[in-house]
Amino acid sequence: MKTSTTKTVVVTGGGSGIGLAIAQKFVAAGWQTIIVGRDAQKLAAAKEGMGELCQTISADLSDLTAIPELVKSLGEQFGPIDALVNNAGINMKKEFLDVTDTDFQTILTTNVSAVFTLSREVVKLMLQQGGGSIINISSMASQYGIPKVIAYTASKSAIEGMTRAMAVELSPKGIRVNCIAPGFIATDMSAKALNNDPERKAKVMGRTPMGVMGKPSDIGEAALFLASDAAGYITGVVLPVDGGNSIGF
Ligand code: NAD
Repeated sequence: MKTSTTKTVVVTGGGSGIGLAIAQKFVAAGWQTIIVGRDAQKLAAAKEGMGELCQTISADLSDLTAIPELVKSLGEQFGPIDALVNNAGINMKKEFLDVTDTDFQTILTTNVSAVFTLSREVVKLMLQQGGGSIINISSMASQYGIPKVIAYTASKSAIEGMTRAMAVELSPKGIRVNCIAPGFIATDMSAKALNNDPERKAKVMGRTPMGVMGKPSDIGEAALFLASDAAGYITGVVLPVDGGNSIGF
């Protein structure tokens, strides 16, 4: 049950994959956890396993104009927002020459513009309440070059730059901003990218010193740490959670 000392986190894309695992970690740690996603049914199924500390909000974050109203109602319904995890994201695997301007823009809208707009609106609430913490999610695609994911790479590289820019501007105001760079984590998204491409999968595993794919819960642990008081002096970092993939030979 929520009490006056219960902290609140908003996790975007919290109905599946990494976002769901992040939400589960926060709920287990006693946080009121609001999962935001496009699919009401998926969100309801996710909530079922988490109980009353989990709340669901259906929204398509690529509709940027709706975000200010969404955040206003989040504040009114659930009180102060202590942490925001910008996890929702989309990928597209296509040859460079086949990527249309619309494809490119679609990825950028969800992975970058929605992160900016949602963060800006949530920061307004965080400033009123005296602080908070934001966690962005990037990718190995911003650590080294991966073919056939040009728009995704551009988007995740932007996320790392935005994390640093937000951290220097917002940390003096009591808002820490950090980023997690997941390695290859077993979810629907990575399955789509790797399962029909054994050569790519072999390449991934060949440069992952720990020799296995990560679990969504590995990212959940890191997100909970970065949002917690244990990370109280950490801001502006990009934390790889990748089994060593980013430094693998
Ligand atoms: P996923 O496809 O399982 O989950 C993504 C979630 O985001 C889904 O619930 C989806 O509905 C939601 N979402 C997408 N667009 C949205 C929108 N416009 N509005 C609201 N919700 C939206 O993928 P995942 O693997 O769990 O990825 C989560 C995050 O982690 C993404 O940002 C992804 O880029 C990043 N990531 C994943 C991996 C991996 O190996 N799986 C690696 C690096 C980074």
